[in-house]
Amino acid sequence: MGQKNINIADLVGAYPICAGCGSRDVVRDAWAEWNFATVEWVLKTTLDHFVCDTCGEETTPVWKLDKEFRKKRIRRLNGALRRGEGENATVVITSGLQARGEEFVEAVCIAVSCLDDFSEDNDPHKEHDFGAMDWQGEKLFWKIDYYDQSMTMLSPDPASPTATRRVLTIMLASEY
Ligand SMILES: [Zn+2]
Repeated sequence: MGQKNINIADLVGAYPICAGCGSRDVVRDAWAEWNFATVEWVLKTTLDHFVCDTCGEETTPVWKLDKEFRKKRIRRLNGALRRGEGENATVVITSGLQARGEEFVEAVCIAVSCLDDFSEDNDPHKEHDFGAMDWQGEKLFWKIDYYDQSMTMLSPDPASPTATRRVLTIMLASEY
């Protein structure tokens, strides 16, 4: 499954810095128009002229990514999916797990939704996207995959709830 090329500036957690001094205080020329209903000037369009408020120079912004911010956002979205509160989210129960009966499946789903003992060892990517657990003597795995809206490619931005369809799969370890 492929992934489309994406502009860094379109990703969650992206921010511009000054090409000259590295400051985050980059401002951009823009036009505002009067909004009669809200009685204020509102942004109409942005222009391609940037100035750095720190060094005072005209600049071309360089884009950076706040990776920790992205991880935090991904953890939150994955947590919402596990708790059944996610948008653009699907939960898949494998056939092997389904065969264990409705009561078993329901208890497992509740157990997965309540998980909060994530650590360096069991969550090395810090995304809360995979786990192993024992339930009534059965070894189980759960994992979260990130797809794009068409479900044919990987998500261009797993930190974006609108660009991503999340799929939580819960399975018997023997089905992995
Ligand atoms: Zn600067």
